[in-house]
Amino acid sequence: MREKVLVLDFDGVIVKLNVEWPKVYSKVSELAGYNVTDLITFWKNTFGTELYDKANKVIEEYEILALSRSIVYPDVHEALKIFNGTIYLASMQSQKVLESFLEKNGLKAYFKEVLGRERFGVKRRQLEYILERERGKNIYFIDDLQRNIDSCEDLNIKCVLIRRWKGESLLQKVREILEA
Ligand SMILES: [Mg+2]
Repeated sequence: MREKVLVLDFDGVIVKLNVEWPKVYSKVSELAGYNVTDLITFWKNTFGTELYDKANKVIEEYEILALSRSIVYPDVHEALKIFNGTIYLASMQSQKVLESFLEKNGLKAYFKEVLGRERFGVKRRQLEYILERERGKNIYFIDDLQRNIDSCEDLNIKCVLIRRWKGESLLQKVREILEA
């Protein structure tokens, strides 16, 4: 059987990030000089520009504030433990925020690599990066956003939607992957 690799999104999968989104959007809109209503598109369109770097820094501050108010979903430790293989974190949160959160919550050691927004700009580029490094393995990607699932449909990855808001559990998804 081919080795399995697990790729997890952060917000909505590992943790419910309690960011003050209205403030974030107003700050980013101010920096951009137009009304930003969708950060995923904003990151995608501004990647590699000065505006991207500026917005990254501003939002990072809100993310750091949010971390102290955000709690890891109760099934995360167990899910990572039973997977017992190569796991990546692929998130559009800041690298610094991701690393410090994982560290504080005793989760860092489970991950082979943490991919934040600075280096990638879009989720798809993160998945392509992992595909390149994990050739010949079965890659499973779990995200809570249908858009992210759709964006990787044509890649050679099994994309799994998790609906935490409907009570779906990461532990259950990981069990299904292990049994597949
Ligand atoms: Mg998410």
